[in-house]
Amino acid sequence: MAKAILLEGLDGSGKSTQVMLLKQYFEEQGHKVLTLREPGGSDYYEAIRANVHFTEYQRPPVSDALACAAGIAANVAISKNALENNTWVVTDRSFISNIVYQRAQGLQKEIAERITHEALEEFSYELGFLIDIPINVSQKRLSNIGKLQDRWESKGAEYFTQVRSLYHEYASKYNLVIIDGQQTIDSIHRQILSSL
Ligand code: ADP
Repeated sequence: MAKAILLEGLDGSGKSTQVMLLKQYFEEQGHKVLTLREPGGSDYYEAIRANVHFTEYQRPPVSDALACAAGIAANVAISKNALENNTWVVTDRSFISNIVYQRAQGLQKEIAERITHEALEEFSYELGFLIDIPINVSQKRLSNIGKLQDRWESKGAEYFTQVRSLYHEYASKYNLVIIDGQQTIDSIHRQILSSL
């Protein structure tokens, strides 16, 4: 029976690489696969993503939390539908990232959690992974591929240290398997497969 799989982690931790490998793996096994990402994935949430990533609009963190919750709700509905059709769901980030990033931007824990949980409507991922890397590795990998966002410059190392620590807090709360993201791409892939 198809399951919903969640991959969380810092930018550059290798999530999208592993989503691609999982998709390939499931398709080779003859299964159907739906891949999503946070923020985005579905057409509806991709439209919201454009606004969330547009930093010039003035708004408090709660605005992004609510906008992303709307997108998460849409992705949850699509995921439920996929699972009913025996399609595996693999997502590059989801609700945990919404809580983590809004909290890191100063939103109160209770508010970030409440808003995000409303969007989930009891939906849960059967399998979740935190691909963990130190922030200097994240920074280096993003720099290598020319994707060192302005955010790195404006937010600074302290912000990303907090993001990493919040990921660990929620990995523990939601029983994510923590994977050392500094292993080879293939080792990480095999570790994920061994948990299926
Ligand atoms: P994310 O989706 O988490 O932002 P990506 O999968 O896009 O991360 O990977 C970011 C960069 O790091 C890419 O250039 C990718 O090839 C590289 N990368 C991914 N996983 C590893 C790994 N285990 N070891 C070294 N480099 C990696």
